[in-house]
Amino acid sequence: MRRSKKNSKAKSNQKPVSRAAAKRTLLRPGRFVARNTEKGPMRIGIVAVQGDFAAHAAMLRRLGADSVEVRTVSDLEGCEGIILPGGESTTQLQFLREEGLFDAIRQFASHGGPVFGTCAGAILLATKVKNPPQESLGLLDMTVLRNGYGRQLASDVFFERTKLKKDPLEMVFIRGPIIEETGKGISILATHEGKAALVEKGNILAATFHPELTDDPTVHEHFLDMAAKGAAQAASAS
Ligand code: GLN
Repeated sequence: MRRSKKNSKAKSNQKPVSRAAAKRTLLRPGRFVARNTEKGPMRIGIVAVQGDFAAHAAMLRRLGADSVEVRTVSDLEGCEGIILPGGESTTQLQFLREEGLFDAIRQFASHGGPVFGTCAGAILLATKVKNPPQESLGLLDMTVLRNGYGRQLASDVFFERTKLKKDPLEMVFIRGPIIEETGKGISILATHEGKAALVEKGNILAATFHPELTDDPTVHEHFLDMAAKGAAQAASAS
């Protein structure tokens, strides 16, 4: 069965819903999983406060997935994955806090919902942030050093080997963080200058670079695969 038109369309102008009501109705365990059993494009929420969220949307569109710009908790309704884009992590953190999205995203992930962070998004996912220390969602056991590669003003582009494909992957770094340490069970899918640059554990994926700013869909494809596999597992267990 295909999704209804209403559900497969990206929407950015949601009616305001009270935070408490949104929490009651949207964040029940398994809600996003149940929707995953339907056929039709996956629906991924992209936190759209500032930064390069539009580039993520374009990449998802290319891969046949739908995206929703997320600015309020109610925008998360029906999302089967969440992307935290690059930008300025301090600004994004403040916004997530103000909108109640900080807790909502943590709750989504704790129910197995897939979350992918790029650059500032990776900083928000870490358990420990340095330079300067900053609060974070703490969804991936790693220590990150903000602006760790120096204060690159323009982008630096590198090609590095990954575990995702045979050919090297194009990596665009823009004032990216360095992953200084990773905890137990974190898989390192790619490195740059000897430091982990693409890491995952369970339903959480983080890149210190910007795959959305290249023409290569490998990392987004991997995220959609993670999301689909997680949903299939949850569906067979229920
Ligand atoms: N340096 C930024 C931060 O610390 C991240 C840069 C980026 O996302 N391109 O938030």
